Amino acid sequence: MSNSRLLQLDREHLIHPVVNFRAHEKKGVTVLKSGKGAWLTDIDGNRLLDAFSGLWCVNIGYGQTSVVEAATRQMSELPYATGYFSFGSEVAIQLAAKLIELTPRSLEHVYFSLGGSDAIDAAIRYITYYFNAIGQPQRKHFIALERGYHGSSSNGSGLTGLPAFHDNFDVPRVNQHHIPCPYPYRSPVSDDPQAIIDQSVSSLHEKVNELGKDQVAAFFCEPIMGSGGVIVPPKGWLKAMQNACNDLGILFLVDEVITGFGRTGPLFACDAEGVEPDLMTVAKGLTSGYSPMGALFMSDEIYSGIADGPNASAVVGHGQTYSAHPVSAAVALEVLRLYIEGGLLANGQAVAPIFAQRLEALSAHPLVGECRVRGMLAGVELVANKETKARFDMALNLPERLGRIAYDNQIVFRAFADSILGFAPALCFEESEFEFLFDRLTLSLDSLLKEPDIRAAV
Ligand code: PMP
Repeated sequence: MSNSRLLQLDREHLIHPVVNFRAHEKKGVTVLKSGKGAWLTDIDGNRLLDAFSGLWCVNIGYGQTSVVEAATRQMSELPYATGYFSFGSEVAIQLAAKLIELTPRSLEHVYFSLGGSDAIDAAIRYITYYFNAIGQPQRKHFIALERGYHGSSSNGSGLTGLPAFHDNFDVPRVNQHHIPCPYPYRSPVSDDPQAIIDQSVSSLHEKVNELGKDQVAAFFCEPIMGSGGVIVPPKGWLKAMQNACNDLGILFLVDEVITGFGRTGPLFACDAEGVEPDLMTVAKGLTSGYSPMGALFMSDEIYSGIADGPNASAVVGHGQTYSAHPVSAAVALEVLRLYIEGGLLANGQAVAPIFAQRLEALSAHPLVGECRVRGMLAGVELVANKETKARFDMALNLPERLGRIAYDNQIVFRAFADSILGFAPALCFEESEFEFLFDRLTLSLDSLLKEPDIRAAV
């Protein structure tokens, strides 16, 4: 099919996630055709260095043939097995056991979803069930962070703390609340890391006290606010939030959908601070995007509360046709093997300092306010004024323009609405690829700065 026909059919029929519908029709789709390692090729034959791993998910890089073989084997042997009515598949059970071995010690049970949004949705439903089952039905309130992202399910989108996911969708619901996110670069309190941590802890205490201590079910957070602009809290923040939840007697859910599977260095961001949450969600890196799958982990206390409450004889009515899908489970097992035995986790850790050095050098660029990084996850915040940290006027449409210039320079990353750039290179990235990425990124920022309206704005 010709490119122009594809563009036309896309415009006419395909609804894309998170776009302005009419602006997308005008811009048109960019059709990607193939991938190998960290490189993509589009339908016009352009080669592009993908510094965002698709949507921060293809942690192992493209074209890993052993994963394709694992999927093919499973598809030939048994393409589908339901998890309903106590059926199951060998691979799903093996995957569950392997993940419980690798995740924080507090987590003993896992429910497999199709991605992150429905893992979060499952968490909300199981937590609600749990408190009803243990005789605390009044615990209906959920707290999350402004700028947090917990997917776009009809319930989880309310815990997401980004206006585009709320406006006109009638969320957050009355039982969903947000506290400010720890944002060191723009902290209203102070630059001091401990003061930023203390501020978050006291915001959580205040919110719980305002709602009523026995009315709150749980607090949800990401270790690093990904879609909110790769905002990296000070070291020790996650542990402090766990302690605060323990002190307040509410459940603590860590959303590792982006940070899981080596993205920040260790296998999970929780590992860096010895955090043991009551619940944890993952997706993306679990299968590295080769097949859809997410997971919700929970403690034995929650599982047993659901299992043994006064409702002990009831069927727990939560599930999806494709929960614990065997092909995705086979893919995840092979992806895990590549991280650990295949050395990809170690490679990510080995090249992360090169990434950090390059980002440090980029901080000197006149458009760059701050570069923040943990492992293979980084945010670059562009500002109109480095002194005052003033943001660019949205009307300049800077992210879109920079994205286009970068594409012409053969690099792909994420440009968020408030001029924050997101980077999540695959763990297989090599030194030469960082060189290419930062040379082309600097070139792109220089070109942008030459445009008269941008020059006038700085
Ligand atoms: N939680 C976090 C932290 C995420 O980053 C995302 C996706 N970007 C989700 C949940 C939702 O996952 P999915 O898009 O797979 O539904």
